[in-house]
Amino acid sequence: MVPRQLRRRVLDLAHEGHQGIVKTKEHLRSKVWWPGIDKEAEKKCRECFGCQMVAKHFPPPPTAPTRLLERAWQEIVVGCLGPYLLVPLLVVVDYFSRWMEEEVLRSSHQMLTQQFCKVWRAS
Ligand SMILES: [Zn+2]
Repeated sequence: MVPRQLRRRVLDLAHEGHQGIVKTKEHLRSKVWWPGIDKEAEKKCRECFGCQMVAKHFPPPPTAPTRLLERAWQEIVVGCLGPYLLVPLLVVVDYFSRWMEEEVLRSSHQMLTQQFCKVWRAS
C-alpha cells in the first residue's frame, strides 16, 4: 500500500507515455495498490490531453465526388504559397483544366487584390 502523500507521484509514473486508462491501471496493479486506485487512474487519464489524443480515433472525412465542370474558369482556387526564397506567391488554379497562374506576392492587402485581378484578367 502506497502512503497517501506518494500516490500522486506513483500515479504520474504509471501514467508516463500517455497509454490510456487500461495501461495505466495495469502498470499500477502490477506494483502497487491503495483504496480507490482505479478511480484515480481513470480520472488522471480522462483529464489528460495526451491520453485523449492517443485514445481517440479521428477518421478522415468521407470523400465526396466532385461535380463535373462544363468550362474553364468556372471554379477556381486561390491561395498563397511559400514563401520560396523569401517570396510568397499568389496562385490561382482552374479546376477544369488544372491550369495554374502564379504571381509573386507583394506585402499589402491592396497589392494582393491588384495582383489577383491581374492574374484573373490574364486568364
Ligand atoms: Zn496522459
